[in-house]
Amino acid sequence: MFKRVLIANRGEIAVRVIRACRELEIETVAIFSDADRAALHVREADFAVPVGPPPATDSYLRIDRIIEAARRTGAEAIHPGYGFFSENAGFARAVAEAGLVFIGPPPGAIEKMGDKVEARKLMTAAGVPVVPGSPDVLETEAQVRAVAAEIGFPIMLKAAAGGGGKGMREVHRGEELASALRAVIGEAKSSFGSSRFYVEKYLNRPRHIEVQVLADTQGHTVHLFERECSIQRRHQKVVEESPSPFVTPAMRQAMGAVAVRAAKAVGYVSAGTIEFLADADRNFYFLEMNTRIQVEHAITELVTGVDLVKEQIRIAAGAPLPFKQADLTQRGAAVECRIYAEDPENGFAPAPGKIATLRFPDGPGVRVDTGVYQGAEVPIHYDPMIAKLATWGRDRGEAIDRMRRALDEFVIAGELRTNLDLHRWLMRHPQFLGGEYDNNFLEKEYRPPTEESLEGERLAAILMAAAAAYKNHSAPTGVKIMALQPPASAWKIAARLDLLRR
Ligand code: ADP
Repeated sequence: MFKRVLIANRGEIAVRVIRACRELEIETVAIFSDADRAALHVREADFAVPVGPPPATDSYLRIDRIIEAARRTGAEAIHPGYGFFSENAGFARAVAEAGLVFIGPPPGAIEKMGDKVEARKLMTAAGVPVVPGSPDVLETEAQVRAVAAEIGFPIMLKAAAGGGGKGMREVHRGEELASALRAVIGEAKSSFGSSRFYVEKYLNRPRHIEVQVLADTQGHTVHLFERECSIQRRHQKVVEESPSPFVTPAMRQAMGAVAVRAAKAVGYVSAGTIEFLADADRNFYFLEMNTRIQVEHAITELVTGVDLVKEQIRIAAGAPLPFKQADLTQRGAAVECRIYAEDPENGFAPAPGKIATLRFPDGPGVRVDTGVYQGAEVPIHYDPMIAKLATWGRDRGEAIDRMRRALDEFVIAGELRTNLDLHRWLMRHPQFLGGEYDNNFLEKEYRPPTEESLEGERLAAILMAAAAAYKNHSAPTGVKIMALQPPASAWKIAARLDLLRR
């Protein structure tokens, strides 16, 4: 086993990897930008190395500095987390060339799955069903029209190198095609440095269901069942759950077998995820493979009892998987809410800042993964996710009951705004409770609170802050009153703090 591992990431995932290393008695090396000097992952690691100024391109995305940091600290392996270099074959190769171990798949597998068109071709050849569409990259508008004539509108234009919900546009009619194409090509060039694109049939109200896989260097590949990720905004996941309330036992078995076949087709090693779109008739189609640990891995850990990050590290050290497919079962149900520093009243634009007051939920069945603490600053330079709140229950109902309770316990106040209220709303929505939702649910149903509906809560928040200041209480300075995010009701808090009676 490794003695020391460098984590080429920040935030909650860096802390998550540190925890896995601790349990395996591996020492950890954090890297940090100037904006992250006081970050939680830096405090938690055994060693920490500065790698540059705040912009990621000058720090977390500097291959030379990361490898130098590993050399200087004597780390033997590098865990990339998710995002940043996690799906970058060039980085994986540079790590290997420096004589270090990349904790992830072989560069070849990253490359094959990184290009969506190449991945579609490979999967088709391996007998994995893909979303109907163009078999190859397209070059002209006329070619797009020809494919559209064949598969019919609506269609989805997609950048071959796309990711993170970027570089795709749905087109419902021929007249919209030219401008959508220009937009996709522009976005593909600026975000991914490649204008290659292709076309998929736009599936009507599909569900995003993915399958976790683990593969070791000895050729064993298993799946760890599904995660339903259909609660999305702008094609990005907001809430995930496992098992999926939509998947039947037969469908689960079929998806698992296809996921294992897909992973084997690219010689996959490590933890990875095969993403599928499922239609109302429970047909499912390969969408893409994520060749890394994912944000939502925790819910799979909760229902299978497998520590995916520890397995990733053990696999990278050459160990065989300690279980077979038949040893794996789903026990109970888990839900995860992604808590973002963003402003629901301002189109969910990132709204980072200092966290003045913070109380995480706790108690039975609750897991919090975070990179922040009370008093910390959420920097503007990176992804605005501040915590993942996951709950487990004996069944889906209990997991959701616990999530509702945990969300109400969650107190966060300061300069930042959060999407906590969206989660509180969702966990009470009859359609979500019934498991009857698709990828368009959130976009269609959720309306952020209006000025009017917020007025009462705001008044209570102002009262709290004013009373606290009057009593020379610990009113955090610089806190914007409007940013107070009370849990159930600010009135309740104000009353309990005894603010209403003085
Ligand atoms: P990214 O790599 O940017 O995450 P994906 O290909 O994984 O992009 O798709 C992300 C999301 O976009 C899906 O979960 C789904 O909501 C939507 N989407 C992608 N392709 C299609 C399609 N052909 N039809 C309908 N929705 C789609």
